[in-house]
Amino acid sequence: MTATPYPEVSSIEQLKVAPSRDYVCCMGCTDGPQLDGMTDPVEWARRHRALKPWHDRFRIEQYTNFSVAPAQPDVICGATRKISIKLFDEASEGVEIERSDVTVTCNEAPHPGDEHSGPLIVNGERLGVHIWTAKAHEPAR
Ligand SMILES: [Zn+2]
Ligand SMILES: [Zn+2]
Repeated sequence: MTATPYPEVSSIEQLKVAPSRDYVCCMGCTDGPQLDGMTDPVEWARRHRALKPWHDRFRIEQYTNFSVAPAQPDVICGATRKISIKLFDEASEGVEIERSDVTVTCNEAPHPGDEHSGPLIVNGERLGVHIWTAKAHEPAR
């Protein structure tokens, strides 16, 4: 599965364990590398100041990317559909695997018509939105 750059969270606890990245930042020019464990921020600042002596203030900044789900109506349509999707499984080095047990639930407010849409969630990860028509022929499972 591809890593989502902005993982969806629903609580501060989930946010706390979301991946974060540290950067050292020169306050004079906003230059500065990501701290990947190999980079010594003090050493970097020393070298930076040696080049630009008037750049003498630095800051460590932590970036945590996250997103939240769109607001949900109190009452939803609730129609469900079982679908199968193909995923690239990172654990097995990008081999495509098929999951045929993914259930999508229409999370729109109750609506007329046969067009439904709901979030496609696999292993707790939101992969997108699935839109389907209830009358479409579905193979027996
Ligand atoms: Zn600078
Ligand atoms: Zn629906």
